[in-house]
This record gives sequence, structure tokens and C-alpha cells, in this order.
Amino acid sequence: MNVSSLQILPDAAQGYDQAATVLRDGGLVAFPTETVYGLGADACNDHAVARIYDAKGRPSFNPLIVHFANLDAVKQHVKWTAEADLLSQTFWPGPLTLVLPKKPTSPISRLVTAGLETLAVRMPAHPTARSLFTAFGGPIAAPSANRSGQISPTLASHVIQGMEGRIEAVLDGGPCAVGVESTIVGLTDKPVLLRPGGITEEQLRDCLGRPIAIRKNAEAISAPGQLSSHYAPTAAVRLNATEWNAGEMRLGFGDVACDLNLSPQEDLVEAASHLFDYLHRLDSKGHPVIAVSPIPHHGLGVAINDRLSRAAAPRDTGS
Ligand code: AMP
Ligand code: MG
Repeated sequence: MNVSSLQILPDAAQGYDQAATVLRDGGLVAFPTETVYGLGADACNDHAVARIYDAKGRPSFNPLIVHFANLDAVKQHVKWTAEADLLSQTFWPGPLTLVLPKKPTSPISRLVTAGLETLAVRMPAHPTARSLFTAFGGPIAAPSANRSGQISPTLASHVIQGMEGRIEAVLDGGPCAVGVESTIVGLTDKPVLLRPGGITEEQLRDCLGRPIAIRKNAEAISAPGQLSSHYAPTAAVRLNATEWNAGEMRLGFGDVACDLNLSPQEDLVEAASHLFDYLHRLDSKGHPVIAVSPIPHHGLGVAINDRLSRAAAPRDTGS
């Protein structure tokens, strides 16, 4: 998607209001946190979230961290635990992300979690980020505001270099102080350090009163979406279907008759925005096979095909 001009918004009330308006309209706004610049979208808007993946040029859907202004808002979306209480009281607002079970009632886009049932949540300390969150009033999904494979931006000028023509605005809050990304702690079972970052292992241990387990598998840290435990439909998935067989649920793309259509107009951002939601919906009908139209292998189509081929791969039955 091509955006004609990138607005540089001031670190002042007027800038926060303009940025919040861009987010409400489904646009993308980069903003400073205490770690790096984040690339924000309305976390409840499927299309806006799809645009994040498009702007970053990622070949796969990595789940995104969702940013909040206050604790009450966080608790509306995740199942809170005693350890989450302890860690958040000590380190929030600050460079710590917690991964918790997502509440089934949360309206956050399925594309944010790339189909996972857990949600990564964070409450940054940076005053500019907090002012933006207050002006917007809802959860903001944001990975680092760099193109895939490039280094994380710590200045508005880095964001502009990488994202010109791809996003609507950047809130210029000066340099980021930490420069490394947030520490990620998983709290779906016993606490586990998923990614080292701004808060150290020692700080976590002191807070929890015991050592914290460390996720050793590097791939699991950088791309949990590629784990075998990741969401796959119960139904078998048949790819590149140009005709349909009796009894299949039909997930179409383009001008085809089907049960659900990812994008009748063949728009890949629209297709990505529906992907996880439509897979879930078709799977819930209980048919043995979901057949999917061919998806062009360029732009966001690469990430869509990556996800679909994982969904179609032979299953680890867990036995
Ligand atoms: P970035 O936003 O670029 O700092 O990257 C976000 C990091 O958070 C990635 O490494 C993701 O894999 C990780 N992440 C986001 N959501 C989850 C989740 N539900 N479970 C585990 N890791 C997550
Ligand atoms: Mg990053």
C-alpha cells in the first residue's frame, strides 16, 4: 500500500490528537517508547493490523505486542495472574512485555496474535507514548518501526528512512533512551524469559524471589508463530484449490463462488486482515477439509502462503 506523504507530528497535545485521529482512521503511526520506535495501529482493526505486516515487509506473521495506557485496560484483554501482578507493580510502566492467556471476549484482531491464544501486553513509560495512548483510548498493536531485517529505529529520522511511503505519520519524541527492545516474559505456565531486553534476568529474579526459566530455543524466541504448538485448524487444509470437492469448506480469493472470500478484489492486505478469522470460522463448522484458492506469492501473499502451508502441513498429533 502506498501512502503519499509521511506527517511528522510534534511532541505536543496537537500531535497526539492528530496521531490518534490517524489511528482511528485505520492508519499507521510510529511513536517513541523508552526502548525503540514502535509502529502502531488500532489493535482491534484487522485491516490496520494487516497494514503493519505489509509496511514491515515481513515474510511471515509474527505475533505483535499490544500497548496500553493503564492496568485496568490491560486486564480487559488478558487473564491476569499473581506473577503478572508482582512484575507489573515493579516494572510497569517500563520495558517489560508479559505474555498471558487472551480472554475470549477480547476484541483484539486475531492477526495481532497470528492465531495464538496468548497475548503479549506492555505498558511503556515514555511520556510521548503514554500521551498518544490516552488520546487514542484503545489498545495499540506495535512492533518495532523498521523494515523486516533492518535494525530497530531509535530516532524519528530512522523511521522516516525506512517507512517513507508506507505509513501515515511519526510522532517525533526525540531519541529513545534504552535502544534495546522490551524484555518478554511468558506467564502462561511458570514464568519464562522469552526474550532478553531492557529489564535484566537478575531484576526479574529479585522481583519473583526465584530464578526464572529461560527459553533456549532461539527460533521459538524470534518466531513463536513457527512452533508446532501454534494454531492450526482441526480440519485438513488443501491449498491452491481451483475447483471445490463435495463436503469441503471453501476459502476463496478473487472472483470465485465460495463460503468465505479473503478478498473478492484480490487485495492482499484485505486478504491478510481476514485470514485467521476466516480460518477459525470455517474450522468451527466441523467439516474435515478447508480448501483454499491460490494466493499470489508477492507482497503480503508471501506471509499468507507461509501461514497456509503451515496449516496444511502434516500434524504433530501431540502423542
Ligand atoms: P517486536 O515488536 O519487533 O519487538 O517483536 C515482538 C516480539 O514479541 C516477537 O519476538 C514476538 O515473537 C513476541 N511475541 C508477541 N506475541 C507473543 C506471544 N503471544 N507469545 C510469545 N511471543 C510473542
Ligand atoms: Mg523488531
